[in-house]
Amino acid sequence: MKVSDMSMETKLIHSGEPSPRVMGAVSMPIFQSANFEFKGEESYHDIKYIRLNNTPNHQVLHAKLASLENAEAALVTGSGMAAITTALLTVLSSGDHLLVQKTVYGGTHSFITQDCPQLGISHDFIDPADPEDWEKKVRENTRAIYVESMSNPLLEVGNLKAVVEFAQRHGLVSMIDNTFASPVNFRPAEWGFDISLHSCTKYLNGHSDIVAGAVIGKADWVERITHKLNHLGGTLDPHACSLLHRGMKTLALRVKYQNESAMKIAQFLESHPAVEKVNYPGLESNPGYRFARELFEGYSGMLSFEVKGGVHKAETFMNATRLPIIAPSLGGVETLLTRPASTSHAGLSPEELQASGISESLIRVSVGIESTDDLIADFQQALDKL
Ligand SMILES: *Cc1c(COP(=O)(O)O)cnc(C)c1O
Repeated sequence: MKVSDMSMETKLIHSGEPSPRVMGAVSMPIFQSANFEFKGEESYHDIKYIRLNNTPNHQVLHAKLASLENAEAALVTGSGMAAITTALLTVLSSGDHLLVQKTVYGGTHSFITQDCPQLGISHDFIDPADPEDWEKKVRENTRAIYVESMSNPLLEVGNLKAVVEFAQRHGLVSMIDNTFASPVNFRPAEWGFDISLHSCTKYLNGHSDIVAGAVIGKADWVERITHKLNHLGGTLDPHACSLLHRGMKTLALRVKYQNESAMKIAQFLESHPAVEKVNYPGLESNPGYRFARELFEGYSGMLSFEVKGGVHKAETFMNATRLPIIAPSLGGVETLLTRPASTSHAGLSPEELQASGISESLIRVSVGIESTDDLIADFQQALDKL
């Protein structure tokens, strides 16, 4: 059976594993060695050394990650931000221009607006659902278009097929942060994206206990990004490789369950009188549903909603829940709640928050793997207190 014919569940267990197994070990051992014996390597990048991300623990992950998205190659990195910044610095040089989705992850937003201008790299923000907007903003020196599979915290899905088509027509590199969807729900390479980026801190690892990232995509880009990462040093330590490897084995089980659970919770919230609005790409009321339905296999474990009555009611609700943990980040086995206006988006002024559609009473939920019925019962009793 060819790897590309295997289902996600099978690839998670078997693809990329060493053959023969190392000393017969069923679980990949940790190679805790910074350097390896010289074997006549001719290029700096081929010397086996942890910073060069090429020890056996890295190589297994590279093969597994590439197979999950049916892509040519992959690279693990020390964090999601290491993957994103290294990829952007590989694609873009001084004088280049970037088209970037207006609501990207906060760290990405700061890097593009604060660090890139210092390097002579300019940008324009675009609406990912509106190709006419991109046509107006593309320039002679535009080099790449950068989007996210779902935006945070409103879970908007852009016209991703049109992004690839637009990039190909204008000779741009197409880049997507696929963290929120995970390879279970969306595989960018299958739709023609050049580079997919992940914070493996989230769904891929899934247990809220490491920070890691990945670049997945065309082999020539992954090679160039690897060389840049070798210089910048955003390596993943073999211990963290091993934890990521272990966490990934249950990715499909977790994400498929989280998809179903989030859908039921979104439907429950949408029908509750104390709730003003629910954002979930699997609901027909969501503007991104038409794009998500065609491209995604599931709608993720992420949703957000507003309660009626403002910020105090939102806080009352959060404090009245018993199961979720009030914490930032996402994609783990435990359900998390955050109020973006007070955490991830606290740097925005009230006007900017309003312009981004993020109300003070918006609550974001990262649905874990607890029983759906228990979560709905808990949300119900907390909403009844409002
Ligand atoms: C968390 C996150 C990142 C950054 O990843 P780190 O692993 O924290 O560096 C980037 N993009 C998205 C969408 C994220 O959720």
